[in-house]
Amino acid sequence: MTTLQAYRFAPDAHDIQAAALSRHAGAARFAFNRGLARVQAALAQRDAEKTSSVACAELTPVPWALPALRREWNWAKATAAPWWAECSKEAYSAGLDQLAGRPKHFGDSRSGKRRGRRAGFPRFTKRGKSRDSFRYTTGSHGPDGDRHVKLPRIGRVKVHEPMAALTGRPADGTARLLGATVSRTAGRWFVAFTVEVDREVPTGPSRRQRKARTAGVDLGVKHLAVLSTGEMIPNPKHLAASLRRLCTASRAYARSKPASAGRRRRAARLACIHARVASQRRDGLHRLTSRLATTHDAIVVEDLHVAGMVRNRRLARAVADTAMAEVRRQLGYKTGWYGCRLVVADRWYPSSRTCSGCGGRNPSLTLSDRMFVCPSCGLVIDRDVNAAVNLRSLVAASMSETVNARGGDQKTPLAGQVAVKREPGTAPAGKTGGASPQGEAA
Ligand SMILES: [Zn+2]
Repeated sequence: MTTLQAYRFAPDAHDIQAAALSRHAGAARFAFNRGLARVQAALAQRDAEKTSSVACAELTPVPWALPALRREWNWAKATAAPWWAECSKEAYSAGLDQLAGRPKHFGDSRSGKRRGRRAGFPRFTKRGKSRDSFRYTTGSHGPDGDRHVKLPRIGRVKVHEPMAALTGRPADGTARLLGATVSRTAGRWFVAFTVEVDREVPTGPSRRQRKARTAGVDLGVKHLAVLSTGEMIPNPKHLAASLRRLCTASRAYARSKPASAGRRRRAARLACIHARVASQRRDGLHRLTSRLATTHDAIVVEDLHVAGMVRNRRLARAVADTAMAEVRRQLGYKTGWYGCRLVVADRWYPSSRTCSGCGGRNPSLTLSDRMFVCPSCGLVIDRDVNAAVNLRSLVAASMSETVNARGGDQKTPLAGQVAVKREPGTAPAGKTGGASPQGEAA
């Protein structure tokens, strides 16, 4: 199985190298801003041509595709940036690449052609405000031995940890290096190698030992995850743990004098705390999802509407701190890597309100009830374990229709079918597909 993977390392650059890294990021920013100015000028020109009474045979072309931007840059760089040779040409390319297509995305987003979050018209980037990054796609970049990376025009830079996970791969022909992105987060530089990797997906009985074949996973705020086996993975609440420090640092930053050395120092401190929280969270989630994907044959999760939950201001901080959508995203690709199957239960499947013992419903269950008490069979079970067990039961129902087995992230419109199977008294609602809110809305 061929996948794209990123291997990220932290270079331990000495002062001269760190300055070169900053300079390259600045070069990318310069090319971006200059390109954006050209695009804006061309758009303004075109507007003027459209409204003028003199009919123009041809409107001014807007250089917003990468080849046009690069052609223009190469033509103008000797006068616009006489110092351009100090940095790798890849840096300027990277800046133009960041710009390419963005004005078009803005237009498509505004006219509704592009889905997702509204894209704004690109804005000029500013040193110290915008993210520092540039990318190598050609030239002799890559790992140099186990503890160094080589970056054109910057040199051979030591990295903080051994790169055995990456360096072993190109040697045995299972990987191809496609590029390297260098970026700075909270004052620290990172190099991320994009690698096309040929992964061997474990199959059949030779596959590593698996404790349980199938697990239902209920994600939540009280516990980060509750498995159908009854195992509860605590929510580490990294943000909550650092909140006091964040408050202090934010206040200090807000009270500092604008554009002062003190403000820069305090901004760096604040960024460090945020970056630390993000790193802790990322580490925990990767450990969790790797463990789930390597020790199971199939995993069932709910298709949670996390963006909607974050809109609830009382829940927003706690929900965002758990990063439930990220768990789902990571499981999406890791299940494929490790020969596990991911089943995503429908958003409206009433996993919490259904009894895992008899299949009856308890519509009176509220968010504050930690225990599920079944009105028909008297089962008393932890609310989240009950939900996880219900989720696990969906795998059997999805088996018949997903013959292609491993690796897929299959969305199962199961809510209807399962509800019909469990409640013989009700009319078959399966025809309406998975989109109908059943039970949970009651
Ligand atoms: Zn029951």
